[in-house]
Amino acid sequence: MTYTEPDGRIDILSLTLEELTEQLIALGEKKFRAGQIFDWLHVKRVPDFESMTNLSAQLRSALKEKFCIKSLFIVKRLESARDNTVKYLYRLPDGNHVETVLMEYEHGNTVCVSTQVGCKMGCRFCASTIAGYKRDLLPSEMLLQIYTAERDSGRKIGGAVLMGIGEPLDNFDNVVRFLHLLSCKEGMNMSLRHVSLSTCGLVPRIYDLAKLDLGLTLSISLHASDNKSRSEIMPVNDRYDIGELLTACKDYFKTTGRRISFEYALIDGHNDSREDAKRLAALLSGFVCHVNIIPVNKIKERNYRSDRKSAQRFRTYLEELGINATVRRTLGADIDAACGQLRREYEV
Ligand code: SAH
Repeated sequence: MTYTEPDGRIDILSLTLEELTEQLIALGEKKFRAGQIFDWLHVKRVPDFESMTNLSAQLRSALKEKFCIKSLFIVKRLESARDNTVKYLYRLPDGNHVETVLMEYEHGNTVCVSTQVGCKMGCRFCASTIAGYKRDLLPSEMLLQIYTAERDSGRKIGGAVLMGIGEPLDNFDNVVRFLHLLSCKEGMNMSLRHVSLSTCGLVPRIYDLAKLDLGLTLSISLHASDNKSRSEIMPVNDRYDIGELLTACKDYFKTTGRRISFEYALIDGHNDSREDAKRLAALLSGFVCHVNIIPVNKIKERNYRSDRKSAQRFRTYLEELGINATVRRTLGADIDAACGQLRREYEV
């Protein structure tokens, strides 16, 4: 654990309760103080140490010297006119920006969290990767995307999808720590059953994630049924091909018992034929899985197209072949908040 800022202070929102306890003991305090502070930070969510009224003035000033409490600034808030989706553009403490989306599902409010500033993965159809990669997000910065959206909207948030900007498994340690803090019973206490993590397929990290057996849903961005067409749209496929990826998915299921969700962004004329459906069904036969078809969302730099009708047709092909599939509801498309439309750069 470091989480030390350039000014020498520690990013307190990234510390686990155990680590905070060690820090308080080192300051000569009793253990229970750590629990009180953790509650101020993660349950009451105060912005500064002054607000922690059950601590002595002396301790508050010692804390202020040693730690900082980060916050996100809402630069822009866009509300969809079609559904209850809200897209936030946040400024991070160092001046970088990320986007976060608050969505309403049947079972409650879910936040789509960004895990990096930009992305290195280079998927051709995705806006998040176009301006390249800047840095990883800290656990505190991922948590604050949720805390800030909850405070601003007044809506209780019960779930999270790690499907915003960035590749979560490319920021593995910070993401795992974020998930620990998010689900910690003294904090937000979100069940990881209500969390999905989506990856473009960083195979070694899928094995690492399986070992942790966190109980979350793993979503795999598959988007193709053969290596040639996958490599054309996803450079990561040249590092870890479909065969290696699916072997890792089998291991994930064997270790965790969790059904895998495969995402398939449908692109007209590229991956939407009956032949594609047949190949996909053959690849997935014997898997306990589910295919989520997403008609590709428009981004201005590319010419990829699809619509719900093609998606429904592709779904029928798959179901005829015995593969369980749904067409993902597209939320927030009118505010560029749908899959693959989030960016780290913005125009004011
Ligand atoms: N980096 C992770 C999570 C980010 S995106 C990943 O690759 O899985 C969440 C999902 O949206 C991924 O399945 C991604 O491939 C998909 N996506 C990206 N751009 C899209 C677009 N323009 N239309 C539809 N889905 C897209």
